[in-house]
Amino acid sequence: MYQQRIVIVGAGIVGLATAYALLRQGMQHVTVLEQATVDHGRSTSHGLSRLLRFEYGNDHFYSEMVQLSLKRWKNLELVSGRTLYTRTGLLALGNEDDNFTLPSYLTLNELGLSPERLSRRYCRQHFPQFDLDTYDLFTYNRNAGLLHASYCLRTLKELILELGGKIFENTPITSFSHENMLRPIRLHLGNDDEMQADRLVLATGPWVHRLLDDLHLPIRLTRQYLLYFANLPASSFALHKFPAFLADNLYGFPLHNTCAQDGPCWLKAASHDFGPPVDPDAAPVVDAEIITGITKRLCKLMPALKQAELARVEACMYDVSPDENFILDCLPYDQRIVFATGLSGHGFKFGPLLGEILSNLVRDTPPPIAIERFRLTRLAHPWRPQVTSVA
Ligand SMILES: Cc1cc2nc3c(=O)[nH]c(=O)nc-3n(C[C@H](O)[C@H](O)[C@H](O)COP(=O)(O)OP(=O)(O)OC[C@H]3O[C@@H](n4cnc5c(N)ncnc54)[C@H](O)[C@@H]3O)c2cc1C
Repeated sequence: MYQQRIVIVGAGIVGLATAYALLRQGMQHVTVLEQATVDHGRSTSHGLSRLLRFEYGNDHFYSEMVQLSLKRWKNLELVSGRTLYTRTGLLALGNEDDNFTLPSYLTLNELGLSPERLSRRYCRQHFPQFDLDTYDLFTYNRNAGLLHASYCLRTLKELILELGGKIFENTPITSFSHENMLRPIRLHLGNDDEMQADRLVLATGPWVHRLLDDLHLPIRLTRQYLLYFANLPASSFALHKFPAFLADNLYGFPLHNTCAQDGPCWLKAASHDFGPPVDPDAAPVVDAEIITGITKRLCKLMPALKQAELARVEACMYDVSPDENFILDCLPYDQRIVFATGLSGHGFKFGPLLGEILSNLVRDTPPPIAIERFRLTRLAHPWRPQVTSVA
């Protein structure tokens, strides 16, 4: 039987997970093209940790997706024999009327995840690292944790190669041609070479507009920052003594190796508030005013940070869709081309599930969940290709 040549552009978590899913389903000619290297410093997926939280307000859909995705991460751990996920528990500090903390708690309860609602007194006793003054609702979910992101990417790379897939690094795609549906899609590589594909997956993260410019996708790219604090006592902030946390769009992790597997153990924290617009190819800049603002909020939340050293700041990017839902779809005018974008800063935890969904779109087989919510058609107009008139 003829085996389709499937090319995936982008070796972030989405591209790699899609390649892996396709190979696991028996596809043989699966090739990933990456403009830099797997786990390169500017990709959105790079970094030693990503939070896996179940808390999505009253949005059962995403919380259930997290459950499905965690099963797949655990399966990947079994297959690879590696630890990709570490349970940390997650403390949410909020308010009764913030429209997030209580609905999240109720949703998790309904899903049988047994979250705990903590009294102020209990919270103060068990998590004295936090200033609770401005909050009146405290919940704890012991199932949440951190994904060892870079390690996940490298593990997927190895599994893909073991399964016979190909990964070409330092191979940027500059454009593609697909005018004739009876002919293969032609990919133009940066070095003037060309490659042909029967099916194409574009998983290019914040570089989405480079190849899909004509779609005028309503995706904005924002600059985000990760802050790393050193010199905090392990007795209070180490893994299993201190949880991952969420409070007013701030989130963070216990001390863990943060810039190399055997690197220093720092506390990593960030704000999920969307930052200023960014060009994915521009050199990352650190905006001192934004960093000072986030640091102040973190110090108010965890007073011990006032004595800590802000050891490192990393700049990163989000690709944000108007409703913060992902976009997973085929091109409206060529169903052979599948793309993913709009991960809106919360996509890593869903990696293996998104890979499976995209593999289903490629193969035209049913996905494990309903994906109408992720279709392009849900968005108001501007995605339609524009016809330019030639004078
Ligand atoms: C600071 C920060 C914190 C985050 N925290 C969390 C979290 O705690 N939990 C969570 O679930 N999610 C989190 N996210 C979101 C998550 O990391 C992203 O949604 C996810 O990693 C996106 O993966 P991706 O594969 O779509 O993109 P990327 O990882 O950016 O991969 C795209 C790849 O495509 C390549 N590429 C682009 N164009 C081309 C081309 N023309 N030719 C060849 N290659 C190309 C790029 O080089 C890149 O490697 C966070 C994101 C950031 C930035």
